[in-house]
Amino acid sequence: MDNLTICKRCGSDACFEQEITPQITNYFCYGCGFQTNTLMKESEEFFEQQKEVLPELYKDLIFTDQDGIKWMPSMINVPDKGMIFANGTDISNWKWASVRAIKVTEEEKHKYPIPGKKDTYYEWRMDMSTMRPFEEREFMDALSYIGVLPE
Ligand SMILES: [Zn+2]
Repeated sequence: MDNLTICKRCGSDACFEQEITPQITNYFCYGCGFQTNTLMKESEEFFEQQKEVLPELYKDLIFTDQDGIKWMPSMINVPDKGMIFANGTDISNWKWASVRAIKVTEEEKHKYPIPGKKDTYYEWRMDMSTMRPFEEREFMDALSYIGVLPE
């Protein structure tokens, strides 16, 4: 069952809860843009592995809730819409960055080959000139900006 619950990080009521198995539940909060699952705990192998590959800012932003579960900022990447990621220097100085995807044109497609495939090119690319900052609690606006949520 999927349902909306109260976010244990930010307290908004827009936290999407999804049971994957009886042991694993995913949480994705549309209020603050952070996510986690029940394996994201100190000393859990899964969490330690995740942490190793995280950018420094993401490590800095890890939040531990009252159940010891670690929340981290989302990274959204929808090839034909855009991407959203936490952008900044540290926990006191960051925002969401929302970037729109645009169609790769015939003239520029040679710059966007799909690795390992002959004569095939990406159809969309991220247009960094569209990058726009959003405050933490404006995560849904950031999703709307790239068209993942309606305006
Ligand atoms: Zn939240």
